[in-house]
Amino acid sequence: MKERTQKTESAGERVFAPAYLWDFRCDGSACDSHCCRGWRIPVDMASWERLARLPSKARKAVFAKLTEKEGTGWETRHDKNGACAFLGKDGLCRLQTTHGEDYLPDICDSYPRVSYLFSDFVERSLALTCPVAARLALLSESPMRFEERTVPARRASSAVHPPMEAQRIGKKMCALQLRMIAILQDREKPLRLRFLHLGRFLAALEARYGNHRLPRSEGLAACAENVKPDAETRARAPAYMRLRYMAEMLAELYEAEEDYTAPRLNAFASVLAEREEESEAALHAMHGHILENLAVNELFLRLYPFSCAGGFLANFKLFVLRFRVAEFPLLIQAFAKGAPLDEETALLMLGRIMEKLDHNRAADGLLKRHAAEDFYEMDADGTLSFI
Ligand code: SF4
Repeated sequence: MKERTQKTESAGERVFAPAYLWDFRCDGSACDSHCCRGWRIPVDMASWERLARLPSKARKAVFAKLTEKEGTGWETRHDKNGACAFLGKDGLCRLQTTHGEDYLPDICDSYPRVSYLFSDFVERSLALTCPVAARLALLSESPMRFEERTVPARRASSAVHPPMEAQRIGKKMCALQLRMIAILQDREKPLRLRFLHLGRFLAALEARYGNHRLPRSEGLAACAENVKPDAETRARAPAYMRLRYMAEMLAELYEAEEDYTAPRLNAFASVLAEREEESEAALHAMHGHILENLAVNELFLRLYPFSCAGGFLANFKLFVLRFRVAEFPLLIQAFAKGAPLDEETALLMLGRIMEKLDHNRAADGLLKRHAAEDFYEMDADGTLSFI
């Protein structure tokens, strides 16, 4: 492993990624140094050791801004405004400007990149909790493109190993992802039908091949074609039941934070039920590309259908539930205001929800539990009639 990593680092690495990745530049002035405020920033052991080897004066200055947490290692201190102690008034990181990016902890070196280390390539995309990444990934009106490039290697310790099942299918993983993405980007259909198509496709694949003996690209295409919903297909239950489910889910997720109390959301659900199609159509007409990009980015970033245990269909249920939880507040706002939110506010709202889902283990666990239990006996069609 060590040998392979060293070779990769000197020769560059093959990266399969959405094309927007290459345009990303961290810009603290565009996001008010979003990722350096309010978070505890852990310092991994390898980075701590690099910092400990700095010359004495520099080392003392650096360690004055670190603190040791009992049982959990080291992290950066906060200043009185809750920002990382290394963040300068100009929005730049003093650790980086003084000592260079080699001295950044792994988390700062990688964020907002999420990298999966396969045996002979890396998959990489950007987390949407970074506002600069979210703009790049979500605002493009053209379908998100994916490509492979050989680029200078990043620090290998910042990447994670994908689950064993994904490792095992190797390069077929990319073919599977591209097929799922093509389904989500089929703009001839409304987004709901694309989700239905995706669910049926994954269920059919799982039933026929299991989750580790996948066909080649042509076989995947044929399987997707066989389960294509026709234009007449509808994927919804009585609207009030669906909306009420989402409202309760959101209230639970936000633990009755001001805007998302259960009574308030349920009241919305009951009136929204009468005009749901209209509000959804208006939302998708204005922000359809943002929602499609969100779905595609999440699908890739979380390595579906290997994001959770339980098989392809279980992963599909989690994928849809996470997406709906992100979309639902936009739907409520579109209804409440009589028109969809402007692009900036929609992006801000999505960023806030992604933060909740990415950084709050309880919220993540809650969604996984709901996805596994509430639709346990349902197929893709049944699941989509509720979420
Ligand atoms: S990584 Fe993103 S959120 Fe963090 S400072 Fe850079 S642009 Fe801002």
